[in-house]
Amino acid sequence: MVIQSNQAKRLQMPEPWQDPKIKPYVSIKNLTKRFGERLAVNDVSLSIYKGELFSLLGHSGCGKTTLLRMLAGFESPTSGKIFIDGMDMTNTPAYKRPVSMVFQSYALFPHMTVEQNVAFGLIQEGMKKNEIRDRVDSYLKLVQMSGYENRKPHQLSGGERQRVALARSLVKQPKLVLLDEPLAALDKKLRERTQLELVNIQEKIGVTFIMVSHDQEEAMTMSTRIGVMNEGRILQIGGPTEVYEYPNSKYVANFIGSVNLFEGLVVEEKADHVIVKSTMLEKNLYVTHSASAPVGAQINVAIRPEKVMLTTKEPTDEYNWTSGIVQDIVYLGDVSIYYVKLSSGIIVLATVANLVRAAERPIQWDDKVYLHWKPQSGIVLAV
Ligand code: ATP
Repeated sequence: MVIQSNQAKRLQMPEPWQDPKIKPYVSIKNLTKRFGERLAVNDVSLSIYKGELFSLLGHSGCGKTTLLRMLAGFESPTSGKIFIDGMDMTNTPAYKRPVSMVFQSYALFPHMTVEQNVAFGLIQEGMKKNEIRDRVDSYLKLVQMSGYENRKPHQLSGGERQRVALARSLVKQPKLVLLDEPLAALDKKLRERTQLELVNIQEKIGVTFIMVSHDQEEAMTMSTRIGVMNEGRILQIGGPTEVYEYPNSKYVANFIGSVNLFEGLVVEEKADHVIVKSTMLEKNLYVTHSASAPVGAQINVAIRPEKVMLTTKEPTDEYNWTSGIVQDIVYLGDVSIYYVKLSSGIIVLATVANLVRAAERPIQWDDKVYLHWKPQSGIVLAV
């Protein structure tokens, strides 16, 4: 998983959610939405703070768009409340909310020029012509689309159209911008570039963004915090590093990045560690940093592939290693992923940085290898 530089910058932000004196900007309280039998959003409570870029992340159908649409006022909740800036907005119509939405499909008017598209909302509000011109100019500049005023949407690339759609949402200076998979239609390279642009724009104007995504790398790169959703519920809320390094469930561990899971029995529990016996491995697992689990509990220990080290020499340690045969090596340029089959039959993934060229690497297919990891690399999760 590549953690990009802007995320490192975001990690230095003061964290308002850690400060009980700071009031959330958006408060969602026990929000539920049913479509007939289908429970699309199930009792979600969530606080989002001013200036955040909060991502709702989850598989298709988990309820993230429905949650976003309820915030926008396009869908009314079956039960629960929505507060924005301290005001109860649960029954406020969409056009009266201080909210703007950016759609995946851009939703630009095809017969209007870029300038007319961006100006549309301001004309409807009855703003004076010269003020509109100044405002539109400054927002087109912000999204780096000055000079494109007279083009029609079909004369723009996907990325340019998305930037115009963003300018159109921002020009009315909403306090809250909701983005529904805003970059999904862009190719990978353009998407990565636009992610950084979006973050820069959001930081520049200090507006609060709530974004829906099913792309975990995108959410990791851009967000202050991520809410991981499954089947209408939020399973975990945390910063990108927190949900990656300390997932609170098997589902989150598997959804954010890849993970090796070893099921086993807790045989020792002390204040600073647990020891777990797993029939999948030759040696017991010694895990620090763990949620406490009582002796006799059946649990999973999760270990990320990049935390698994490979060697051809048998380790002398008492814990945290096993052996296997290299079944496959997937070369990804900067790293290779080794698929190692253990004698218990399970496959363990190890991500190894390609410090030398592929032909020179010391471990090849069918080699016997030892896999080992540090006590602080394991995460204890419920089965
Ligand atoms: P995707 O990433 O595919 O957009 P999502 O996580 O945004 O998925 P939602 O669109 O919120 O998911 O849908 C959640 C569930 O509610 C799905 O099972 C969907 O079929 C259902 N659903 C959404 N809108 C309606 C509707 N208007 N009528 C009936 N069911 C709906």
